[in-house]
Amino acid sequence: MRLNKYAILIAVFWVSFTYANPLQQVRDFTSEQLSDNLFVLKSTGSNTNVGIFMGETFILLIDPFVGNANNTKLVSAIRKLSDKPIKYIINTHSHSDHIGANSFYIELGADVISNRNGQFYFNNELISSEDKYTIDVGNEKLDLLHFISHTTDDVIVHFRKNNIIFMGDTYMHDTYPHAYAGGSKGQFEVINKTLSLSNDSTKLITAHGRFLTKKAEFLSFKEKSELWYEKINALNEQGESMEVIVRNEELINISKMFRPFSLGYFEQQVRKTVVAERLISK
Ligand SMILES: [Zn+2]
Repeated sequence: MRLNKYAILIAVFWVSFTYANPLQQVRDFTSEQLSDNLFVLKSTGSNTNVGIFMGETFILLIDPFVGNANNTKLVSAIRKLSDKPIKYIINTHSHSDHIGANSFYIELGADVISNRNGQFYFNNELISSEDKYTIDVGNEKLDLLHFISHTTDDVIVHFRKNNIIFMGDTYMHDTYPHAYAGGSKGQFEVINKTLSLSNDSTKLITAHGRFLTKKAEFLSFKEKSELWYEKINALNEQGESMEVIVRNEELINISKMFRPFSLGYFEQQVRKTVVAERLISK
């Protein structure tokens, strides 16, 4: 294992009249090294995993948002790793817990690369309407691949030389598919493309929770997802109502293969899945 761990402790003492509870402002960051030039930085106060790529002359960040009150602390944590300028931000999709710090980084001089409804943008400039956009940063090539799955503007980021793929929210550990926009069609497009790019040493990085997955675990996610969607779609095709679908014993048992969650969370996710499946079957 070549994973080096750094625990970066951010100043514990905080004097401010602005914040009623100074303890809320204390955040610890942990960074994990994935390769010579790729890291994941995580705040204990936030569930988002921030990707950090060290270019030869610059830093590129993926989804650098751990709460607005912590933007400068996140930069301080990044500064423990490198003092190169933060030049690029990649958004894996447009949910606020991923793009929330864009304007903060733009003010620091960074440019944002994102997808909006299938088109790639460099800040507000349209750069491609294709589903793939490649960035050559000298010592690495990054393929940005667009999917409609979790949202209409999902981007997975494939670092070719590093053999590392940042999945955004198209895949989350141990939990049901979150393909609210693309349904099963979009979810399996992401899964199959990711598998085609992966070998046994590929590192798949999720945006939330425990962040590292290998291909074997991802394959098992695919199998569970197939059972999940098959059952939901079968019930849907039988014309069952939402209330009947969320009480289906077999579906409850399939859901436990991901991880046993509360019935409330299960129901919420089934409802969202049914809505997405009905949408894409139209
Ligand atoms: Zn999301």
